[in-house]
Amino acid sequence: PPAIEAAKHARLAEVFGFDRFRPGQQDVVDTVLAGVPTLAVMPTGAGKSLCYQLPALVLGGLSIVVSPLIALMDDQVNALKLQGVAAEAIHSGKPREDNVEIWRRVARGEVSLLYLAPERLMSERMLSALARLPLGLVAVDEAHCVSQWGHSFRAEYLQLGRLREVFPGIPLVALTATADRATRDDIVERLFGGQARVFVSGFDRPNIFIGVEDKKDPARQIESFVRARPNVSGIVYRISRKKVDETAERLQAAGVRALPYHAGMSPEARAANQEVFLAEDGVVMVATVAFGMGIDKSDVRYVLHADAPGTLEAYYQEIGRAGRDGAPAEALLLYSAGDIATRRRFLDEEASSPERKMVEARRLDAMVGFCEAVTCRRAVLLGYFGERAKACGACDVCRDPPKVVDASRSAQQVLRLVRASGERYGAAYIASLVTGQRSDQVCGRGHDKLAEFGAGADKPASEWRALLRQLVAINALHADPQRYGALMLTEAGNAILGGTRTFTLRAPTRHKRDRHAQRDG
Ligand code: ADP
Ligand code: ZN
Repeated sequence: PPAIEAAKHARLAEVFGFDRFRPGQQDVVDTVLAGVPTLAVMPTGAGKSLCYQLPALVLGGLSIVVSPLIALMDDQVNALKLQGVAAEAIHSGKPREDNVEIWRRVARGEVSLLYLAPERLMSERMLSALARLPLGLVAVDEAHCVSQWGHSFRAEYLQLGRLREVFPGIPLVALTATADRATRDDIVERLFGGQARVFVSGFDRPNIFIGVEDKKDPARQIESFVRARPNVSGIVYRISRKKVDETAERLQAAGVRALPYHAGMSPEARAANQEVFLAEDGVVMVATVAFGMGIDKSDVRYVLHADAPGTLEAYYQEIGRAGRDGAPAEALLLYSAGDIATRRRFLDEEASSPERKMVEARRLDAMVGFCEAVTCRRAVLLGYFGERAKACGACDVCRDPPKVVDASRSAQQVLRLVRASGERYGAAYIASLVTGQRSDQVCGRGHDKLAEFGAGADKPASEWRALLRQLVAINALHADPQRYGALMLTEAGNAILGGTRTFTLRAPTRHKRDRHAQRDG
Protein backbone atom coordinates (compact mmCIF):
# COMPACT_ATOMS: atom_id res chain seq x y z
CA PRO A 1 0.00 0.00 0.00
CA PRO A 2 1.21 3.51 -0.84
CA ALA A 3 0.76 4.75 2.74
CA ILE A 4 3.11 2.11 4.06
CA GLU A 5 5.59 2.78 1.24
CA ALA A 6 5.63 6.46 2.12
CA ALA A 7 5.92 5.80 5.85
CA LYS A 8 8.81 3.45 5.20
CA HIS A 9 10.90 5.97 3.32
CA ALA A 10 9.97 8.79 5.67
CA ARG A 11 11.11 6.83 8.74
CA LEU A 12 14.29 5.73 7.00
CA ALA A 13 15.28 9.33 6.47
CA GLU A 14 13.84 10.99 9.57
CA VAL A 15 14.55 8.44 12.27
CA PHE A 16 17.62 6.69 10.94
CA GLY A 17 19.04 9.45 8.80
CA PHE A 18 19.73 7.22 5.79
CA ASP A 19 18.88 8.17 2.24
CA ARG A 20 18.68 4.64 0.97
CA PHE A 21 18.61 1.00 1.99
CA ARG A 22 21.68 -1.10 1.94
CA PRO A 23 21.65 -4.21 -0.27
CA GLY A 24 19.25 -6.71 1.20
CA GLN A 25 17.58 -4.47 3.76
CA GLN A 26 14.62 -3.43 1.68
CA ASP A 27 13.57 -6.98 0.81
CA VAL A 28 13.57 -7.94 4.46
CA VAL A 29 11.65 -4.84 5.52
CA ASP A 30 9.02 -5.36 2.81
CA THR A 31 8.53 -9.02 3.65
CA VAL A 32 8.18 -8.31 7.35
CA LEU A 33 5.69 -5.54 6.61
CA ALA A 34 3.72 -7.99 4.47
CA GLY A 35 3.41 -10.23 7.53
CA VAL A 36 5.48 -13.07 6.10
CA PRO A 37 7.65 -14.97 8.62
CA THR A 38 11.19 -13.87 7.82
CA LEU A 39 14.73 -14.91 8.63
CA ALA A 40 17.37 -12.33 7.76
CA VAL A 41 20.99 -13.40 7.64
CA MET A 42 23.57 -10.64 7.40
CA PRO A 43 27.11 -10.37 8.66
CA THR A 44 27.92 -8.12 11.58
CA GLY A 45 27.93 -4.50 10.55
CA ALA A 46 25.74 -5.01 7.50
CA GLY A 47 22.72 -3.36 9.11
CA LYS A 48 20.45 -6.00 10.59
CA SER A 49 18.93 -3.78 13.26
CA LEU A 50 17.19 -1.58 10.74
CA CYS A 51 15.47 -4.66 9.30
CA TYR A 52 13.23 -4.97 12.36
CA GLN A 53 13.40 -1.46 13.81
CA LEU A 54 12.03 0.23 10.73
CA PRO A 55 9.07 -2.14 10.22
CA ALA A 56 8.32 -1.86 13.94
CA LEU A 57 7.99 1.90 13.63
CA VAL A 58 5.94 1.67 10.46
CA LEU A 59 3.55 -0.90 11.95
CA GLY A 60 3.13 1.09 15.16
CA GLY A 61 2.05 -0.30 18.50
CA LEU A 62 4.46 -2.18 20.74
CA SER A 63 7.13 -4.34 19.15
CA ILE A 64 9.05 -6.92 21.13
CA VAL A 65 12.72 -7.62 20.54
CA VAL A 66 14.26 -10.77 21.99
CA SER A 67 17.94 -10.48 22.73
CA PRO A 68 20.21 -12.82 24.68
CA LEU A 69 22.53 -10.36 26.41
CA ILE A 70 21.91 -7.38 28.67
CA ALA A 71 24.81 -5.49 27.11
CA LEU A 72 23.38 -5.92 23.61
CA MET A 73 19.94 -4.74 24.76
CA ASP A 74 21.33 -1.66 26.46
CA ASP A 75 23.43 -0.73 23.42
CA GLN A 76 20.46 -0.94 21.10
CA VAL A 77 18.13 0.91 23.44
CA ASN A 78 20.62 3.72 23.94
CA ALA A 79 21.18 4.10 20.21
CA LEU A 80 17.43 4.18 19.56
CA LYS A 81 16.80 6.72 22.29
CA LEU A 82 19.39 8.99 20.71
CA GLN A 83 17.39 8.76 17.50
CA GLY A 84 14.26 9.76 19.36
CA VAL A 85 12.67 6.31 19.39
CA ALA A 86 10.79 5.20 22.51
CA ALA A 87 12.80 2.06 23.21
CA GLU A 88 13.22 0.32 26.55
CA ALA A 89 14.61 -2.89 27.98
CA ILE A 90 13.37 -4.81 30.96
CA HIS A 91 16.07 -7.08 32.34
CA SER A 92 17.66 -8.45 35.47
CA GLY A 93 20.50 -5.94 35.36
CA LYS A 94 18.19 -3.12 36.46
CA PRO A 95 16.62 -2.28 39.82
CA ARG A 96 13.12 -3.68 40.16
CA GLU A 97 11.59 -0.20 40.48
CA ASP A 98 13.04 0.75 37.10
CA ASN A 99 11.59 -2.32 35.45
CA VAL A 100 8.19 -1.65 37.05
CA GLU A 101 8.24 1.95 35.87
CA ILE A 102 9.13 0.88 32.33
CA TRP A 103 6.33 -1.65 32.32
CA ARG A 104 3.85 1.08 33.33
CA ARG A 105 4.92 3.09 30.30
CA VAL A 106 4.64 0.02 28.10
CA ALA A 107 1.10 -0.58 29.37
CA ARG A 108 0.18 3.05 28.66
CA GLY A 109 1.30 2.57 25.06
CA GLU A 110 4.27 4.91 25.36
CA VAL A 111 6.92 2.44 24.21
CA SER A 112 7.57 1.37 20.61
CA LEU A 113 10.32 -1.20 21.07
CA LEU A 114 10.69 -3.34 24.16
CA TYR A 115 13.79 -5.52 24.55
CA LEU A 116 13.46 -8.68 26.60
CA ALA A 117 15.42 -11.83 27.32
CA PRO A 118 13.71 -14.96 25.98
CA GLU A 119 12.88 -16.46 29.38
CA ARG A 120 11.29 -13.22 30.55
CA LEU A 121 9.20 -12.88 27.40
CA MET A 122 8.03 -16.48 27.52
CA SER A 123 6.89 -16.38 31.14
CA GLU A 124 3.13 -16.87 31.34
CA ARG A 125 2.69 -13.59 33.15
CA MET A 126 4.48 -11.57 30.50
CA LEU A 127 2.70 -13.33 27.66
CA SER A 128 -0.75 -12.69 29.07
CA ALA A 129 0.11 -9.06 29.84
CA LEU A 130 1.36 -8.56 26.29
CA ALA A 131 -1.69 -10.23 24.80
CA ARG A 132 -3.74 -7.23 25.98
CA LEU A 133 -1.57 -4.70 24.13
CA PRO A 134 -1.59 -3.72 20.46
CA LEU A 135 1.49 -5.46 19.09
CA GLY A 136 3.48 -4.43 16.03
CA LEU A 137 5.96 -7.26 15.49
CA VAL A 138 8.16 -9.70 17.34
CA ALA A 139 11.85 -9.77 16.44
CA VAL A 140 14.28 -12.46 17.56
CA ASP A 141 17.82 -11.12 17.47
CA GLU A 142 20.86 -13.43 17.52
CA ALA A 143 18.52 -16.14 16.32
CA HIS A 144 21.35 -18.67 15.91
CA CYS A 145 21.13 -19.14 19.69
CA VAL A 146 18.18 -21.42 18.95
CA SER A 147 20.40 -23.83 17.02
CA GLN A 148 22.32 -26.62 18.58
CA TRP A 149 24.64 -26.64 15.57
CA GLY A 150 25.86 -23.17 16.44
CA HIS A 151 28.51 -22.18 18.92
CA SER A 152 26.19 -20.24 21.19
CA PHE A 153 23.16 -22.41 21.74
CA ARG A 154 20.87 -21.21 24.54
CA ALA A 155 18.24 -23.49 25.94
CA GLU A 156 15.97 -20.48 26.70
CA TYR A 157 15.79 -19.80 22.98
CA LEU A 158 14.04 -23.09 22.36
CA GLN A 159 10.89 -21.82 24.08
CA LEU A 160 10.64 -19.16 21.38
CA GLY A 161 9.28 -21.85 19.10
CA ARG A 162 5.92 -21.18 20.74
CA LEU A 163 5.89 -17.55 19.62
CA ARG A 164 4.06 -18.18 16.39
CA GLU A 165 1.22 -19.83 18.30
CA VAL A 166 1.23 -17.36 21.17
CA PHE A 167 1.05 -14.37 18.84
CA PRO A 168 -0.73 -15.58 15.73
CA GLY A 169 -0.97 -12.97 13.02
CA ILE A 170 1.81 -10.82 14.49
CA PRO A 171 4.78 -10.54 12.10
CA LEU A 172 7.72 -12.60 13.31
CA VAL A 173 11.24 -11.84 12.15
CA ALA A 174 14.48 -13.51 13.17
CA LEU A 175 17.97 -12.14 12.57
CA THR A 176 21.45 -13.59 12.73
CA ALA A 177 24.93 -13.19 11.36
CA THR A 178 25.52 -16.93 11.37
CA ALA A 179 24.79 -18.16 7.97
CA ASP A 180 25.60 -21.68 7.15
CA ARG A 181 22.87 -23.86 5.84
CA ALA A 182 22.74 -26.18 8.84
CA THR A 183 22.13 -23.31 11.23
CA ARG A 184 19.68 -21.55 8.95
CA ASP A 185 17.59 -24.66 8.40
CA ASP A 186 17.62 -25.27 12.12
CA ILE A 187 16.39 -21.75 12.90
CA VAL A 188 13.60 -22.00 10.33
CA GLU A 189 12.56 -25.33 11.78
CA ARG A 190 12.61 -24.36 15.43
CA LEU A 191 11.34 -20.80 15.31
CA PHE A 192 9.03 -20.92 12.33
CA GLY A 193 7.99 -24.55 12.18
CA GLY A 194 9.65 -24.90 8.80
CA GLN A 195 7.97 -22.00 7.00
CA ALA A 196 9.84 -18.75 6.51
CA ARG A 197 11.32 -16.55 3.83
CA VAL A 198 15.08 -16.55 4.21
CA PHE A 199 17.18 -13.64 3.04
CA VAL A 200 20.95 -13.74 2.96
CA SER A 201 22.83 -10.61 2.01
CA GLY A 202 25.69 -8.32 2.68
CA PHE A 203 28.37 -10.98 2.86
CA ASP A 204 30.39 -9.82 -0.10
CA ARG A 205 33.53 -7.86 0.67
CA PRO A 206 34.53 -6.96 -2.87
CA ASN A 207 37.71 -5.12 -1.91
CA ILE A 208 39.31 -8.28 -0.54
CA PHE A 209 41.20 -10.28 -3.14
CA ILE A 210 40.81 -13.97 -2.34
CA GLY A 211 43.46 -16.54 -3.17
CA VAL A 212 44.41 -20.11 -2.31
CA GLU A 213 47.84 -21.62 -2.88
CA ASP A 214 49.15 -25.13 -2.42
CA LYS A 215 51.05 -25.35 0.82
CA LYS A 216 54.51 -26.58 -0.05
CA ASP A 217 57.00 -24.90 2.25
CA PRO A 218 54.84 -22.76 4.53
CA ALA A 219 57.67 -20.99 6.36
CA ARG A 220 59.13 -19.80 3.08
CA GLN A 221 55.73 -19.01 1.56
CA ILE A 222 54.74 -16.90 4.56
CA GLU A 223 58.02 -15.06 4.58
CA SER A 224 57.95 -14.19 0.92
CA PHE A 225 54.31 -13.09 1.04
CA VAL A 226 54.92 -10.84 4.04
CA ARG A 227 58.18 -9.39 2.74
CA ALA A 228 56.55 -8.58 -0.57
CA ARG A 229 54.15 -6.32 1.35
CA PRO A 230 56.36 -4.13 3.51
CA ASN A 231 55.13 -1.42 5.89
CA VAL A 232 51.51 -2.51 6.00
CA SER A 233 49.53 -4.12 8.79
CA GLY A 234 48.68 -7.78 8.33
CA ILE A 235 47.57 -10.87 10.19
CA VAL A 236 49.04 -14.35 9.78
CA TYR A 237 46.90 -17.09 11.26
CA ARG A 238 48.45 -20.35 12.38
CA ILE A 239 46.79 -23.36 13.87
CA SER A 240 48.94 -23.87 17.00
CA ARG A 241 50.82 -21.86 19.59
CA LYS A 242 54.05 -23.55 18.60
CA LYS A 243 53.64 -22.58 14.96
CA VAL A 244 52.75 -19.02 15.95
CA ASP A 245 55.99 -18.73 17.90
CA GLU A 246 58.09 -20.30 15.14
CA THR A 247 56.57 -18.13 12.45
CA ALA A 248 56.93 -14.92 14.45
CA GLU A 249 60.55 -15.70 15.16
CA ARG A 250 61.34 -16.46 11.55
CA LEU A 251 59.72 -13.23 10.39
CA GLN A 252 61.55 -11.24 13.05
CA ALA A 253 64.82 -12.79 11.91
CA ALA A 254 63.96 -11.62 8.41
CA GLY A 255 63.60 -8.06 9.69
CA VAL A 256 59.80 -7.95 9.81
CA ARG A 257 58.08 -6.31 12.78
CA ALA A 258 56.11 -9.45 13.67
CA LEU A 259 54.48 -10.13 17.04
CA PRO A 260 53.01 -13.37 18.37
CA TYR A 261 49.56 -13.71 19.89
CA HIS A 262 48.08 -16.88 21.39
CA ALA A 263 46.29 -18.12 24.48
CA GLY A 264 49.47 -19.64 25.89
CA MET A 265 50.98 -16.18 26.49
CA SER A 266 50.34 -14.17 29.63
CA PRO A 267 47.36 -11.82 29.37
CA GLU A 268 49.72 -8.87 29.79
CA ALA A 269 52.03 -9.96 26.98
CA ARG A 270 49.05 -10.55 24.71
CA ALA A 271 47.48 -7.20 25.53
CA ALA A 272 50.80 -5.45 24.93
CA ASN A 273 51.22 -7.01 21.47
CA GLN A 274 47.65 -6.22 20.55
CA GLU A 275 48.18 -2.63 21.64
CA VAL A 276 51.23 -2.30 19.39
CA PHE A 277 49.37 -3.83 16.46
CA LEU A 278 46.48 -1.40 16.88
CA ALA A 279 48.59 1.69 17.49
CA GLU A 280 51.40 1.30 14.99
CA ASP A 281 51.54 0.91 11.26
CA GLY A 282 53.29 -1.95 9.54
CA VAL A 283 53.00 -4.54 12.31
CA VAL A 284 52.33 -8.17 11.39
CA MET A 285 50.36 -10.11 13.98
CA VAL A 286 51.10 -13.82 13.94
CA ALA A 287 48.26 -15.42 15.83
CA THR A 288 45.99 -18.31 16.57
CA VAL A 289 42.25 -17.82 16.23
CA ALA A 290 42.37 -16.41 19.77
CA PHE A 291 43.20 -13.12 18.06
CA GLY A 292 40.70 -10.92 16.32
CA MET A 293 37.42 -10.96 18.23
CA GLY A 294 36.33 -7.38 18.54
CA ILE A 295 39.54 -6.04 17.00
CA ASP A 296 38.66 -2.92 15.12
CA LYS A 297 41.57 -1.87 12.96
CA SER A 298 40.42 -0.58 9.64
CA ASP A 299 43.65 -0.66 7.65
CA VAL A 300 44.68 -4.33 7.90
CA ARG A 301 45.90 -5.00 4.35
CA TYR A 302 46.03 -8.78 4.40
CA VAL A 303 45.04 -11.92 6.26
CA LEU A 304 47.21 -14.93 5.52
CA HIS A 305 45.95 -18.33 6.64
CA ALA A 306 48.96 -20.59 6.76
CA ASP A 307 46.67 -23.42 7.95
CA ALA A 308 43.12 -23.92 6.70
CA PRO A 309 40.38 -23.11 9.21
CA GLY A 310 37.86 -25.85 9.96
CA THR A 311 34.86 -24.02 8.55
CA LEU A 312 34.11 -21.43 5.89
CA GLU A 313 32.39 -19.37 8.53
CA ALA A 314 35.55 -19.08 10.57
CA TYR A 315 37.48 -18.35 7.38
CA TYR A 316 35.04 -15.66 6.33
CA GLN A 317 35.09 -14.04 9.72
CA GLU A 318 38.87 -14.04 9.81
CA ILE A 319 39.45 -12.63 6.33
CA GLY A 320 36.82 -10.02 7.15
CA ARG A 321 39.35 -8.37 9.43
CA ALA A 322 41.17 -7.15 6.33
CA GLY A 323 40.24 -4.04 4.41
CA ARG A 324 37.54 -2.63 6.66
CA ASP A 325 38.43 0.80 5.31
CA GLY A 326 37.23 -0.34 1.89
CA ALA A 327 40.67 -0.03 0.29
CA PRO A 328 42.13 -3.06 -1.52
CA ALA A 329 43.16 -5.92 0.75
CA GLU A 330 44.14 -9.55 0.30
CA ALA A 331 43.29 -12.92 1.78
CA LEU A 332 45.62 -15.82 1.03
CA LEU A 333 45.13 -19.35 2.24
CA LEU A 334 47.78 -22.06 2.07
CA TYR A 335 46.00 -25.32 1.44
CA SER A 336 47.15 -28.85 2.04
CA ALA A 337 45.01 -31.95 1.98
CA GLY A 338 47.13 -33.25 4.84
CA ASP A 339 45.95 -30.39 7.10
CA ILE A 340 42.40 -31.33 6.34
CA ALA A 341 43.07 -34.97 7.15
CA THR A 342 44.47 -33.85 10.52
CA ARG A 343 41.36 -31.82 11.23
CA ARG A 344 39.22 -34.78 10.30
CA ARG A 345 41.11 -36.94 12.75
CA PHE A 346 40.56 -34.36 15.51
CA LEU A 347 36.88 -34.40 14.69
CA ASP A 348 36.71 -38.16 14.93
CA GLU A 349 38.42 -38.11 18.29
CA GLU A 350 36.17 -35.40 19.68
CA ALA A 351 33.70 -36.52 22.32
CA SER A 352 30.66 -35.05 20.62
CA SER A 353 27.44 -36.63 19.40
CA PRO A 354 27.36 -38.40 16.02
CA GLU A 355 25.03 -35.69 14.67
CA ARG A 356 27.40 -32.98 15.72
CA LYS A 357 30.35 -34.79 14.17
CA MET A 358 28.44 -35.17 10.95
CA VAL A 359 27.65 -31.47 10.79
CA GLU A 360 31.26 -30.56 11.47
CA ALA A 361 32.46 -33.04 8.85
CA ARG A 362 30.18 -31.42 6.25
CA ARG A 363 31.51 -28.02 7.19
CA LEU A 364 35.01 -29.31 6.64
CA ASP A 365 33.93 -30.71 3.26
CA ALA A 366 32.72 -27.26 2.29
CA MET A 367 36.10 -25.81 3.27
CA VAL A 368 37.83 -28.36 1.06
CA GLY A 369 35.38 -27.66 -1.75
CA PHE A 370 36.32 -24.00 -1.54
CA CYS A 371 40.05 -24.74 -1.58
CA GLU A 372 39.73 -27.07 -4.56
CA ALA A 373 37.26 -24.89 -6.42
CA VAL A 374 37.67 -24.39 -10.16
CA THR A 375 35.06 -21.67 -10.25
CA CYS A 376 35.14 -18.20 -8.72
CA ARG A 377 36.13 -18.52 -5.05
CA ARG A 378 33.92 -15.65 -4.00
CA ALA A 379 30.96 -17.27 -5.68
CA VAL A 380 31.68 -20.51 -3.81
CA LEU A 381 32.11 -18.67 -0.51
CA LEU A 382 28.98 -16.55 -0.85
CA GLY A 383 27.09 -19.53 -2.22
CA TYR A 384 27.92 -21.41 0.96
CA PHE A 385 26.20 -18.66 2.90
CA GLY A 386 23.25 -18.77 0.54
CA GLU A 387 24.03 -15.53 -1.23
CA ARG A 388 24.11 -15.57 -5.01
CA ALA A 389 27.15 -14.15 -6.74
CA LYS A 390 28.60 -13.85 -10.21
CA ALA A 391 32.25 -14.46 -11.03
CA CYS A 392 34.02 -11.66 -9.20
CA GLY A 393 37.21 -10.89 -11.09
CA ALA A 394 38.99 -10.47 -7.75
CA CYS A 395 40.08 -13.97 -6.85
CA ASP A 396 42.87 -16.22 -8.06
CA VAL A 397 40.51 -18.41 -10.07
CA CYS A 398 38.93 -15.48 -11.91
CA ARG A 399 42.28 -13.87 -12.54
CA ASP A 400 44.07 -17.02 -13.64
CA PRO A 401 41.60 -19.78 -14.42
CA PRO A 402 43.06 -23.23 -13.69
CA LYS A 403 43.30 -25.94 -16.32
CA VAL A 404 40.18 -28.00 -16.06
CA VAL A 405 38.83 -31.22 -17.47
CA ASP A 406 35.23 -31.97 -18.29
CA ALA A 407 34.04 -34.39 -15.63
CA SER A 408 30.36 -34.28 -16.53
CA ARG A 409 30.18 -38.01 -17.25
CA SER A 410 31.64 -38.97 -13.88
CA ALA A 411 29.37 -36.47 -12.19
CA GLN A 412 26.36 -38.02 -13.92
CA GLN A 413 27.37 -41.45 -12.68
CA VAL A 414 27.35 -40.43 -9.04
CA LEU A 415 24.32 -38.18 -9.39
CA ARG A 416 22.41 -41.09 -10.87
CA LEU A 417 23.46 -43.24 -7.93
CA VAL A 418 22.41 -40.55 -5.46
CA ARG A 419 19.02 -40.42 -7.09
CA ALA A 420 18.59 -44.17 -7.54
CA SER A 421 19.41 -44.86 -3.89
CA GLY A 422 16.72 -42.44 -2.80
CA GLU A 423 18.81 -39.35 -1.86
CA ARG A 424 19.29 -40.80 1.60
CA TYR A 425 23.03 -41.47 1.84
CA GLY A 426 26.23 -39.52 2.38
CA ALA A 427 29.32 -39.15 0.20
CA ALA A 428 31.24 -42.10 1.64
CA TYR A 429 28.39 -44.47 0.87
CA ILE A 430 27.86 -43.16 -2.66
CA ALA A 431 31.61 -43.46 -3.29
CA SER A 432 31.46 -47.08 -2.14
CA LEU A 433 28.63 -47.73 -4.60
CA VAL A 434 30.31 -46.20 -7.60
CA THR A 435 33.51 -48.13 -6.87
CA GLY A 436 31.50 -51.31 -6.44
CA GLN A 437 32.17 -52.23 -2.82
CA ARG A 438 29.83 -55.02 -1.84
CA SER A 439 29.17 -54.57 1.89
CA ASP A 440 26.32 -56.28 3.76
CA GLN A 441 24.47 -52.97 3.87
CA VAL A 442 24.91 -52.41 0.15
CA CYS A 443 23.68 -55.88 -0.76
CA GLY A 444 20.94 -55.86 1.87
CA ARG A 445 19.47 -52.76 0.28
CA GLY A 446 19.89 -54.20 -3.18
CA HIS A 447 22.15 -51.32 -4.18
CA ASP A 448 24.58 -53.70 -5.87
CA LYS A 449 21.88 -54.12 -8.50
CA LEU A 450 21.82 -50.42 -9.43
CA ALA A 451 22.85 -49.67 -13.00
CA GLU A 452 25.86 -47.55 -12.04
CA PHE A 453 27.09 -49.84 -9.26
CA GLY A 454 30.82 -50.32 -9.75
CA ALA A 455 30.82 -48.16 -12.87
CA GLY A 456 33.69 -46.13 -11.46
CA ALA A 457 35.84 -48.94 -10.10
CA ASP A 458 38.76 -47.69 -12.22
CA LYS A 459 39.26 -44.75 -9.83
CA PRO A 460 39.87 -44.91 -6.06
CA ALA A 461 37.02 -44.05 -3.69
CA SER A 462 38.98 -40.99 -2.49
CA GLU A 463 38.79 -39.51 -5.96
CA TRP A 464 35.05 -40.05 -6.06
CA ARG A 465 34.69 -38.44 -2.67
CA ALA A 466 36.67 -35.44 -3.93
CA LEU A 467 34.31 -35.24 -6.89
CA LEU A 468 31.28 -35.42 -4.62
CA ARG A 469 32.80 -32.66 -2.50
CA GLN A 470 33.10 -30.49 -5.58
CA LEU A 471 29.49 -31.21 -6.47
CA VAL A 472 28.54 -30.04 -2.99
CA ALA A 473 30.82 -27.02 -3.31
CA ILE A 474 29.11 -25.84 -6.47
CA ASN A 475 25.75 -26.66 -4.91
CA ALA A 476 24.84 -29.39 -7.37
CA LEU A 477 24.31 -31.58 -4.32
CA HIS A 478 23.05 -30.50 -0.94
CA ALA A 479 24.39 -32.39 2.07
CA ASP A 480 21.59 -32.37 4.62
CA PRO A 481 23.07 -32.06 8.11
CA GLN A 482 19.79 -33.04 9.70
CA ARG A 483 19.98 -36.39 7.96
CA TYR A 484 23.60 -37.34 8.59
CA GLY A 485 24.85 -35.58 5.50
CA ALA A 486 22.47 -37.32 3.12
CA LEU A 487 23.09 -36.00 -0.39
CA MET A 488 20.22 -34.54 -2.38
CA LEU A 489 20.13 -33.24 -5.93
CA THR A 490 19.61 -29.54 -6.37
CA GLU A 491 18.51 -27.68 -9.47
CA ALA A 492 22.13 -27.46 -10.62
CA GLY A 493 22.55 -31.18 -9.97
CA ASN A 494 19.56 -31.97 -12.11
CA ALA A 495 20.96 -29.79 -14.88
CA ILE A 496 24.23 -31.73 -14.85
CA LEU A 497 22.35 -35.00 -14.77
CA GLY A 498 20.18 -33.88 -17.65
CA GLY A 499 23.20 -32.78 -19.68
CA THR A 500 22.22 -29.11 -19.84
CA ARG A 501 25.13 -28.08 -17.66
CA THR A 502 28.74 -29.24 -17.70
CA PHE A 503 30.84 -30.05 -14.69
CA THR A 504 34.57 -29.40 -14.62
CA LEU A 505 37.40 -30.37 -12.31
CA ARG A 506 40.95 -29.07 -11.91
CA ALA A 507 43.20 -31.02 -14.26
CA PRO A 508 45.20 -33.54 -12.21
CA THR A 509 48.79 -32.54 -12.79
CA ARG A 510 50.47 -31.52 -9.57
CA HIS A 511 48.27 -33.54 -7.26
CA LYS A 512 50.15 -36.80 -6.80
CA ARG A 513 51.09 -36.14 -3.19
CA ASP A 514 47.80 -34.52 -2.27
CA ARG A 515 45.78 -37.34 -3.66
CA HIS A 516 47.70 -39.73 -1.50
CA ALA A 517 47.04 -37.62 1.58
CA GLN A 518 43.34 -37.53 0.77
CA ARG A 519 42.98 -41.19 1.57
CA ASP A 520 42.25 -40.19 5.15
CA GLY A 521 39.57 -37.82 4.00
P1 ADP B 1 24.44 -5.38 12.51
O1 ADP B 1 23.38 -5.43 13.56
O2 ADP B 1 24.09 -6.12 11.27
O3 ADP B 1 25.80 -5.75 13.02
P2 ADP B 1 23.91 -2.61 12.56
O4 ADP B 1 22.46 -2.72 12.46
O5 ADP B 1 24.48 -2.28 13.91
O6 ADP B 1 24.60 -3.91 12.02
O7 ADP B 1 24.40 -1.56 11.50
C1 ADP B 1 25.77 -1.36 11.25
C2 ADP B 1 26.02 0.08 10.84
O8 ADP B 1 25.46 0.34 9.57
C3 ADP B 1 25.38 1.08 11.80
O9 ADP B 1 26.32 2.10 12.04
C4 ADP B 1 24.20 1.59 11.02
O10 ADP B 1 23.89 2.91 11.42
C5 ADP B 1 24.69 1.52 9.60
N1 ADP B 1 23.57 1.38 8.61
C6 ADP B 1 22.56 0.48 8.66
N2 ADP B 1 21.72 0.63 7.61
C7 ADP B 1 22.21 1.65 6.87
C8 ADP B 1 21.79 2.29 5.64
N3 ADP B 1 20.69 1.91 4.96
N4 ADP B 1 22.54 3.32 5.17
C9 ADP B 1 23.65 3.70 5.84
N5 ADP B 1 24.10 3.16 6.99
C10 ADP B 1 23.40 2.13 7.52
ZN1 ZN C 1 36.26 -14.70 -8.51
